[in-house]
Amino acid sequence: MNTQLLPALPAGPNGSRKGRGTFTATHRRRLFRADLLTTAAWASVAAAVALWLADGGATGFSTPAGSFTALGIVAGLAGMDLVLLMLLLAARIPLIDQSVGHDRALEFHRKLGKPSLYLLLGHGILIAIGYGMAEGLDPVSEAVSLWVLVPDMWLAFISMALFIAVVVTSLVAVRRRFPYEFWYAVHLLTYAAVATSLPHQFSVGGLFAEGTWQRWYWLAVCIATGAALLHYRVLEPVVATFRHQLTVSRVVQVAPGVVSIEMHGLHLDELAGTGGRFFIWRFLAQGLWWHPHPFSLSAEPLQFDSSGRGLLRITVRNLGRGSAQLAAVKPGTKVAVEGPYGIFSTAARSRDRVVMIGAGIGITPLRALLESTPFAPGQATVILRGRSEQELYLGDEILELARNRGATLFHLTGARSVRHTGSWLPDSATRAGHRLADYAPDVANADVYVCGPAAWARNVIADARAAGVKEDQLHYERFDW
Ligand SMILES: Cc1cc2nc3c(=O)[nH]c(=O)nc-3n(C[C@H](O)[C@H](O)[C@H](O)COP(=O)(O)OP(=O)(O)OC[C@H]3O[C@@H](n4cnc5c(N)ncnc54)[C@H](O)[C@@H]3O)c2cc1C
Repeated sequence: MNTQLLPALPAGPNGSRKGRGTFTATHRRRLFRADLLTTAAWASVAAAVALWLADGGATGFSTPAGSFTALGIVAGLAGMDLVLLMLLLAARIPLIDQSVGHDRALEFHRKLGKPSLYLLLGHGILIAIGYGMAEGLDPVSEAVSLWVLVPDMWLAFISMALFIAVVVTSLVAVRRRFPYEFWYAVHLLTYAAVATSLPHQFSVGGLFAEGTWQRWYWLAVCIATGAALLHYRVLEPVVATFRHQLTVSRVVQVAPGVVSIEMHGLHLDELAGTGGRFFIWRFLAQGLWWHPHPFSLSAEPLQFDSSGRGLLRITVRNLGRGSAQLAAVKPGTKVAVEGPYGIFSTAARSRDRVVMIGAGIGITPLRALLESTPFAPGQATVILRGRSEQELYLGDEILELARNRGATLFHLTGARSVRHTGSWLPDSATRAGHRLADYAPDVANADVYVCGPAAWARNVIADARAAGVKEDQLHYERFDW
């Protein structure tokens, strides 16, 4: 069934002709920061190679053995630089998160996995060939003699084995076979892989020898990466947990298998997001404390006083063993928190008009976004999709908000079409030939926020692109890893 619950109102006074007025400057600044970060990332790889060139490394190409060794060194430097970049991308650094978003940063992190492993493998193989040729040994015998005779080299071999384990278990096909916690535990080996690779970088070869400026540069890059990880992944979450003192106050059933968890805490004004951002939660109860879960706020924090004492809320669907256990979490349970993260929020806005499309549990962050993101009456459209009205979680609250703020709201319920697998609409709407632009005629001139199951969201995004929505107007929150 398709229901339009509230009529579209004429655009308000701040609806500029091109519809970009309010957000133009912040949007440009964000894109500029993203460009700068991308440039800095590639420049760091160039800098790693430049270290070697400045040290006269290119002279190695004068002999065949020297050429293999030279290529091996370059591959090692570039590979290690990419590994450090991967760590920085996963470090949850606010500048990166607020410029490109947590999910894009992790996507880039994943994309670098295979190239960095290939470069590191290439490093080992090329060095074994180059050194072997110089000493009249085959590469395998050379590798064995490196392991046995060269200090710190055995650690480098262990590091390589760990890198291979991490990258292989991160491949999509392999990852799907294991629970999240297994993948996460193996992934932590990355730190051991980096730690065991470091000694040979400084003790073998002359490039990072004591007294060279190259040594200082490389040390500074490694230490800065380690410090960023320690600060943003360990210290900040611990400080935030003590500062906010979050405690479960109520667990309310929203629908079968879906609960809202309300928590009270302190200084919530610092957590008041701009709608739709997510946090990583750890409920400190028996059997639960060891698994962290990302959940978006389903409402902006409610503050009781100017010191930020108040309530916040998440809405959780039992999509697996851990999230199912959360339905039974007891009031009084303490909660550790990390965040807020992501830019599924006003921070990503580029236009005055906004279209929010959610399905299933993906509706809940849109509720928080609808609550707080600025728009004039008539400039927002909300489309909720579910198999039944019961699946339109927090639907009543969203109706109330849409009414108060002058947003047009559609409830699109019913099973999807089995014949038209590319559609995100209910079967009846698909057969009637409806498209996104029929519900939101101004969509080409709006920011489009999409949250829901991956395959469904892909169809919505394809429809949005077909309606003229450009990449920088599309904002998609993924609930998977
Ligand atoms: C940015 C983001 C925001 C989210 N917001 C919400 C929300 O508001 N409400 C809601 O109900 N769900 C949300 N999720 C999904 C939620 O995090 C997972 O459903 C939950 O962690 C599942 O845990 P489990 O132990 O029950 O799952 P498992 O049985 O281990 O796995 C079930 C599914 O959950 C995913 N998953 C498990 N652990 C994680 C993790 N730590 N990070 C990412 N995915 C994981 C797996 O991909 C799998 O598909 C969000 C996910 C992300 C990434």
